[in-house]
Amino acid sequence: MHQHPRALGLAAPSTAPASVAGAIEIAQRQPVQPVTLVRPHAAARAARFFVEKFPGRSMYAVKANPSPELLTILFENGITHYDVASIAEVRLVARTLPGATLCFMHPVKAEEAIAEAYFTHGVRTFSLDSMEELEKIVRATRHASDLTLCVRLRVSSEHSKLSLASKFGVAPNEAKELLFAARQAADALGICFHVGSQAMTPDAYAEAMERVRQAIVEAAVTVDVVDVGGGFPSAYPGMTPPPLERYFETIHRAFESLPISYSAELWAEPGRALCAEYSSIVVRVEKRRGSELYINDGAYGALFDAAHVGWRFPVALLREPESTVRDHGFSFYGPTCDDIDHMAGPFELPADVGTGDYIEIGMLGAYGSAMRTAFNGFGSDETVIAEDEPMVSLYSTVEREVASNVVKL
Ligand SMILES: *Cc1c(COP(=O)(O)O)cnc(C)c1O
Repeated sequence: MHQHPRALGLAAPSTAPASVAGAIEIAQRQPVQPVTLVRPHAAARAARFFVEKFPGRSMYAVKANPSPELLTILFENGITHYDVASIAEVRLVARTLPGATLCFMHPVKAEEAIAEAYFTHGVRTFSLDSMEELEKIVRATRHASDLTLCVRLRVSSEHSKLSLASKFGVAPNEAKELLFAARQAADALGICFHVGSQAMTPDAYAEAMERVRQAIVEAAVTVDVVDVGGGFPSAYPGMTPPPLERYFETIHRAFESLPISYSAELWAEPGRALCAEYSSIVVRVEKRRGSELYINDGAYGALFDAAHVGWRFPVALLREPESTVRDHGFSFYGPTCDDIDHMAGPFELPADVGTGDYIEIGMLGAYGSAMRTAFNGFGSDETVIAEDEPMVSLYSTVEREVASNVVKL
């Protein structure tokens, strides 16, 4: 008798997922569980955009979505460098993409993780924000002479939707000492920062680059790398950012005016912007109570940010013929027996949506897929490749047919 591979604790065999022309086909099959849709062409397009237009090196921040299929798509489309933050991410990318260059950009690491990354996986680039971490790196690599050390500066998150300002980064009055010490230990010295995720204006980078300038001038050190981190936005309902080209121009201009040598390199660590459009989910409405829809995925599934950060994702009712009823704002309850499994939205859907209807929730490729759990026995276990356009795209002017059902940005 055949046993399901999962029952043996093994990964499912790596057969390529089935593919469909569009999300509506999934609804027609009436799946009982949520279905994850992936759009390889959307991730490939985002990768090529960064490779061609960012005026430096783009490395992918793996935590945004560590799917091996996605990593492979990004690599095949020119992303050769990967920002990893844990030893599990180091091992995953080393195994999946043997030709990739890994940069260990978490400023607080286990000493054992640093040693394994350096000696087993060839990692040479590490970030840090304290003397303690510098000592750890020097010890764990046995005083290696080929390190690129990036000092993380604390910068403001005021222009971003998700702050990364309080946890990491050396304070302005301590940067001088740390830059000087890192310079002694490093073959190449870098300065990095993170303006926070979903930065809504290029000014965030201009202001952070001003901090970089001050730090370089005060420490009077030679800097070989300036790494502007992540934070590049995607488009969500109510959050339409300026074109990414404007971010790139602002960063380029600021980089060119820094007191650094002509051979210094510019790096970025986009996470969200490279993968948000890669995936979405199709969920079923199991119950309607007024303006509340009980759906079969939620806060413990792909919708963590919708529940805990109040993020609004684009939604579309997958029904044929299309509903002609006017849109109405709904909130969602997820499937678990837990009150906090609630997504306030509002999510704009035709007012006649009801039990048994299928809804596509878009732009879940970044952080949505990565943060799923199987709590309470719920979640998506089927993944299908979709060939249609993502619900919203920063990289394409082609509008999806379901546009009338998509929340207007
Ligand atoms: C999370 C993270 C990123 C990616 O951020 P996005 O906002 O998804 O672009 C990049 N670098 C570091 C150090 C991070 O922690």
